[in-house]
Amino acid sequence: MPHPVGERLRCDECGAEIVFTKACPCPEREPKAHSDICCGKEMRSAGVSETAEPAPVEARH
Ligand SMILES: [Zn+2]
Ligand SMILES: [Zn+2]
Repeated sequence: MPHPVGERLRCDECGAEIVFTKACPCPEREPKAHSDICCGKEMRSAGVSETAEPAPVEARH
């Protein structure tokens, strides 16, 4: 999976960040079916965040 859930992409130019809340299934082979462009450049992966997944709803009794 090129972009798993929780992966963060960052723009080096302006510092914007996006997080994948759903995994992206786009194939990584060329030509890329998927690209995240900001400021005219492809955003750089900033790693996979452990906390990006929605927290499970706790049942309170
Ligand atoms: Zn930018
Ligand atoms: Zn994609």
